[in-house]
Order: sequence, then structure tokens, then C-alpha cells
Amino acid sequence: MNIAKVIVDVPASSIDQTFDYLIPEKFLDIVAPGVRVIVPFGPRKVMGFVVEKASSSEFSKLKSLNDVLDLEPVLTKELLRVGKWLAYETISLQITTFQAMLPQVLKATYKKEIVRLSEARLSEELEFLFAGRDVVPYEEFIASDIRYIRLSEAVQAGDIAIEYLVKSRITKKFLTMVRPAKPLHELEEAALDLSKLAKKQKQILHFFLQNRKPVEKRYLLKQLRTTDSTVNALRKKGLLEIFQQEIYRDPYAVGDFTKTEPLLLTEQQAEAIKPIKETVTNRQHDVFLLHGITGSGKTEIYLQVIQEVIEKGEEAIVLVPEISLTPQMVKRFKGRFGSNVAVMHSALSAGEKYDEWRRIQRKEVQVVVGARSAVFAPFENLGVIIIDEEHELTYKQEDQPRYHARDVAIQRGMNHQCPVVLGSATPMLESYARASKGVYQLETLDKRTNDKPLPPVEIVDMRKELHAGNRTMFSRSLKKEIEACLQKGEQIVLLLNRRGYSTFVMCRDCGHVKECPYCDIALTYHKHSHRLKCHYCAYEEQMPTQCPDCGSETIRYFGTGTQRVEEALLKLIPEARVIRMDVDTTRRKGSHEKLLHQFATKQADILLGTQMIAKGLDFENVTLVGVLTADSMLHLPDFRSSEKTFQILTQVSGRAGRHELNGKVIVQTYTPDHYSIQLASQYDYQSFYKKEMVMRKTFHYPPYFFLALITVTHTNQVKAVHTTQQFVQKLSSVVHNQTILLGPTPSPIPRIKNRYRYQCMIKYRNEPHLQTKLRKIAALFSEEIKKEDLLISIDMQPYHLM
Ligand code: ADP
Ligand code: ZN
Ligand code: ZN
Repeated sequence: MNIAKVIVDVPASSIDQTFDYLIPEKFLDIVAPGVRVIVPFGPRKVMGFVVEKASSSEFSKLKSLNDVLDLEPVLTKELLRVGKWLAYETISLQITTFQAMLPQVLKATYKKEIVRLSEARLSEELEFLFAGRDVVPYEEFIASDIRYIRLSEAVQAGDIAIEYLVKSRITKKFLTMVRPAKPLHELEEAALDLSKLAKKQKQILHFFLQNRKPVEKRYLLKQLRTTDSTVNALRKKGLLEIFQQEIYRDPYAVGDFTKTEPLLLTEQQAEAIKPIKETVTNRQHDVFLLHGITGSGKTEIYLQVIQEVIEKGEEAIVLVPEISLTPQMVKRFKGRFGSNVAVMHSALSAGEKYDEWRRIQRKEVQVVVGARSAVFAPFENLGVIIIDEEHELTYKQEDQPRYHARDVAIQRGMNHQCPVVLGSATPMLESYARASKGVYQLETLDKRTNDKPLPPVEIVDMRKELHAGNRTMFSRSLKKEIEACLQKGEQIVLLLNRRGYSTFVMCRDCGHVKECPYCDIALTYHKHSHRLKCHYCAYEEQMPTQCPDCGSETIRYFGTGTQRVEEALLKLIPEARVIRMDVDTTRRKGSHEKLLHQFATKQADILLGTQMIAKGLDFENVTLVGVLTADSMLHLPDFRSSEKTFQILTQVSGRAGRHELNGKVIVQTYTPDHYSIQLASQYDYQSFYKKEMVMRKTFHYPPYFFLALITVTHTNQVKAVHTTQQFVQKLSSVVHNQTILLGPTPSPIPRIKNRYRYQCMIKYRNEPHLQTKLRKIAALFSEEIKKEDLLISIDMQPYHLM
């Protein structure tokens, strides 16, 4: 087996296949599937993943591997399979899917070092290499003749470690530790033999006789008020040993959490958990849809399923949306399972993420809680995969590979023969349809664990407010309730149902709207800098004083950005203490948590924000939730807009009155009769589902039809249209005659960064091998893609249509 089949890091669809390389003698024991290597490719050297070893090749004159980057595989055999499957499903390259499964640190070629961890004697060659040093640059090892297996053995034994240097910051941290080097009775004898003068030395030995465990040197010195030289004296006598122990940077350190015990399940919970636990016990794959209203105890079910999995010696992945991965959320898992939990969060630094990933890889934890990409956690004995808030769109990755975490989870669930649990108060229509057909198993929780009813929702018709002469963005009803809350010292959550803060600039005389010169989208007004900025490219300009079209001076900014709402709110109720949470105030790392903490500790009365405040927050003192503009999302050109509106209204309503105090919700809207607003105010998921399914059927949308979106972009508009046309033509001759092809049409944003964007939407019911067909057609344009700066992207099951 001296041939390696390698997927190389060259971004071209023509080479999305393995290449054979000879494995030089010195790498033989180390090269295995899932290990990264450096190989010659044409005139270059490139990185690649070994996917297989073989004893023969159909090619002659094979080149040899240049180097091996990992001593242990970074991808398991199962993940290699998942990568191959994912590349097919998402029409991406295998190298892209493999890279997507790894932490950032492993994607780039960072500098490496070999670090000595203990004083134990290494093999002769390694001692020679270290030559008395503690750290050796990895290049020195490459230049030597030492076999890789020696290095690997020493790593396994814990004597040395290979470190990545991330931007001059070492990825791992170490503590200097001291431990006994002899059995305890020998320490005891030695203590007796010590002269009376060596009082400090004696103390140290007694310390270890009592504690028996390794201890951090700094701590030891401080406790016994002694110095390095005393410890060194004992070390020279062979009684103590000094070594380095890796510590993981843990931003959610366990120490902060109090241990929680499993709760006695309610009747509903017990019924729902039973079939899930059965599949765990029987090592069976099945997909469960846990449809439970907010506060119905879904998380407790997750925790107890995981408990079962841990006791079986297996592992669990829990996915939560990025935005809900708050310390509050992490606490619930760490509180139950302590240091057995790794957390994968995009706010972690590259080094921190790598630490968490390694804890998983080394089987030091059995549970990972993380955002989308945690679905690739390199566990080998998965017992369950849980996706909380399964309807969230952040589970879909928007760059290559354009995967949905739910699909990957189900694929891995099949590989490991373990259940996948999808939880939500407002399941995605597609999921609920699958559950209704029996493809998924439906479990329902329709009672809150504290038996409190969901807070009543009042819908306020804003048109009537206007007629009554109220021109502010706060209805009289909302104002009254806010004031009542403030008097009682209770807190309020105000949701501005909009993405970000869209304040555009319009001329009141002629209606001219200022747009980005490079993207067909209105510029956004930023009050702070008094400038107009584009959200899709870096363009910005001064706020004009005159309309560029008609010269009128009545050019003003419009829309209700969170900043403006805050201003208006303070004008209306000056005594309110407001925390504003939007993309602006949460851009800095950690600011999201900081603001939430301020609110939780009652340093403010009102939390005002965009959708990011709707999710997963649980504040006991919040009794009023106000939605300022419930229908602002209804009119987006997106067939999911009703569903999204229903989801967000249901979610934000669930924030009120979760604990002792009773809550209330006020929803302001200009379309009070719209079914998604009406049904959300009654918490009636079933009726919403039925109504929305009719719409989807009528307009040929999921779950009745599958979608695929092809987007072609080019700086020349004619070229973009023409290419899309050619694509559609080629496609139409190979698809089923009931498949609908819509296009070429301009994308909802027809131009971004001066590139014109045209698209074709495919709606289909049964289209076997569509991926293969699309890949083949795209390949026909590969010359133009390479030479003429043409871009073609294909999104199977698109979720963002903008
Ligand atoms: P969900 O995830 O469905 O919103 P949670 O799991 O957060 O619901 O549960 C809501 C509240 O009820 C939490 O405070 C939780 O500790 C509590 N809870 C959950 N299950 C039980 C139970 N069986 N008995 C008592 N309290 C429970
Ligand atoms: Zn004008
Ligand atoms: Zn722009």
C-alpha cells in the first residue's frame, strides 16, 4: 500500500477527482485516509487530502508526495464520504467540501513547531533533534532523516506536540505543572531522609503526599511560599517532574456554571422523548420533528436524550442558530454536562475554534454545541444529532458548498444509524409537510411546562392611528402599556421587524431615490457620519443637500432605522432607559453579549432591536413585547415572506411572561387582516400551515416543488443575459417536460459591484440526476469562466432569493 489517492487543492471542475502519488518510505506509516499532504501538481506544489491508499495504480511514472501535514487524520473516513456526497449534492468540488469541514487554522498553511511537553526521554533521533531545546521549528524535522512514525509515537505518548502558529499567536496555551516522579512511599522515605535544613523541600514532598495529583507550579510556589530553586532541587534528586500541560482557551469556562440535574419530565415531554430514546437504544436512524411551543421544554428533552447517548459511550451534536448561541444557551448544556461539552461559535478566534475542534477530535468531549458548521464535528460514534430552531435560515450556507445543515445531519444520521431531532415552535413548512406524510416522526408539545398560557396578542391597526391624528410610530395603546410597565419596574422588548436599518434618501418633490452607482439598490443613510453607504459594496458619499435630479432642497431620509426609532422613543418617553441592538451596535466581538447582560441585569428598561432580539432570549422581568412594523417583511419578493412573518411574530411573542409575571404582546401593522399576522396572534400554527400550503401549491413552490437557482453575473449586461439564455436552452432539452424553467430574469438586485446579475429558477418535482446535468452544462462555459470573468453559481434548494 504505497500509493495514495489524493484530492488536490486546485479550483477547477475538470480535476475534481483523485490523483495517484507514491508514498516515500519515511511517510509510509503515517499516510492514511483523511491526512493532508503536499504534492507536486504540474509546476506547483499544492495541498491535498489523501482519500484512499492502494497497492497499485493504473498510471505509470507516479510522482512522490512531498510532505505530510498531519500525523493523525483530520477527516474521519465517514467525513470523507460525507464530503464526496456533499460535493455531488451541492455541485461543488470535493476539495471545497473537505475544507468546509475543518477549522480555519487547518485551511491555511500556518507555520508549525514541535513542542516538548514532558521531561521523559525521547527516542535517540528526537533527542538529537531537540538538542536540549524545548521548541523546534517543524522545518528542521522535515530536513532531517527522522521517520514520521517516531514523531507520531512521541505525540501519541504525550511527550511532544505539533503546534500551529496563528499569526504569531500560539494556538495552544500551556501551564507548567509539577508532579511526583516516584511512587509515593519513596517520596515519604525521601522526606524522612532530608536534612532538617531542607524544610521547604520537605513541605513540598508532604504537599504531594497529601494531594497526589499534578499541580500547577505557580500555584505550588505561591501556596508554600517557596521558589523555583527548591522545586529544582527535588527535581534533580529525581523526586519531582516538571511538565507542560495544554490548557484550552475556554470562553465559556465551566467554572461559571452551576451543575443542574435532569428534571422530572411532564407527561407530554415523557411521551415525546420515549420514541427518540428508543432509537438511541436500538441504534436506529430516524428523523423526529419536535414541534413544541416556546417554553414547552424542548431543551430539557434534548438534554435528557443526550444524557442517554453519553451513558452509552456515544456522542451528540447540537446545532443552534448563531444568534441564539448566547452564554444563556451554553450554560444550559455546560450546566448539565460540564467540561464534556465543546462550543463552536463563530465569535471565537481562530485559535479558540481550533482548541474546541481538537477536544472533539481527541475524544475529550462527547457533546458539541455549535452553529451550522458544527454538523461536521469529527465524532466517530454519533448517538444523536439535534437541530434547535430548525426553521432558521442560517442553517443554509450561502457560499460554496451551499449546504443545509439539516441535510448533512440526516446524511450523518444514516451513516451512524442514529436519530436526528429537529426542534421548533414554528417548523419550516417543508419539515412539517414531511412529518405529516410520515417521512419524519412528529412529536408535539402544546403546553408550557409552567402551565402559563401564551401571552395575549393585541393587533393595532396603524391606519386608524393615522386617522386619529397620531403621526408617531408608536400607537396610543403601545405607549400606554410601555408607561405602565415602566411604572411597575418591568421590562420591555421592542422589535423592529426589518433587516438591519434601512433608511433611504428620497426627494419629496420628485420622488427620486438615491441609489448606489454600482449596485441597483438604494443607499442607506448613516446618521453618525452623515453619509450614504451601500450595503453590497464599499461605496459611500456625502448626504446631498439638493436632489441630483430636480435640484429641490427637500431631500430627506426615510424609513425607520433602529436609530430613528430610538430617537422617537426617547422623545415620547424621555425617562426610558433604552438599549439598542442592531448590526451597528453589535459589530464588535462580544458586544452582543454585553448588551444582553446589561439588559438582564436591569440596567435598561427597553431592549429595542431587529430580529436578533427575537430569538431564544429568556428574561424573567420582560412583560411587554411590542412589534413596531409587523408587515414590513410581507412585501419582500420572496415566497417565504408570509412564513417568515409568522415565525418571527410567534417567536418574539414567546419572549413575554415566561416566568412568574404575566405578559402581553402588541403588534402594530398596516395589514391587520393578513393571515400570517392574524394566525400568529392566535398562536395557530396548524391553520397557518394549511393556509400557506394552499398558496404554495397554487404558485408551484416548495414543498410541492423543489427549487434550484442559477445565477449568472458579468460586467457586461448583454453577456450576462445571453449566457443565461444559453444555459436555459441547454437545460430545457434535458429536463422533464413538467419541470418549469423561469428565466432569464434579472435578479431581485439586478446589479452588485457593477456586475449584472441574471437568473434562472428551476421548479421541479422529479428530476433524477439534475446535479449531474447542471454540472455538465456549467462545464460547457468553463473557458469563458476562466478567461472572461464570467461567474455561474448554482444553488440547489435556495433559501435567499435576493
Ligand atoms: P423550549 O426549549 O421549548 O422553549 P425550555 O426547555 O427552555 O423550553 O423550557 C422552558 C422552561 O421550563 C425552562 O425554564 C425549563 O427549565 C423549564 N422546564 C423544562 N422542563 C421542565 C420540567 N419537566 N419540569 C419543570 N420545569 C421544566
Ligand atoms: Zn427631486
Ligand atoms: Zn454598491
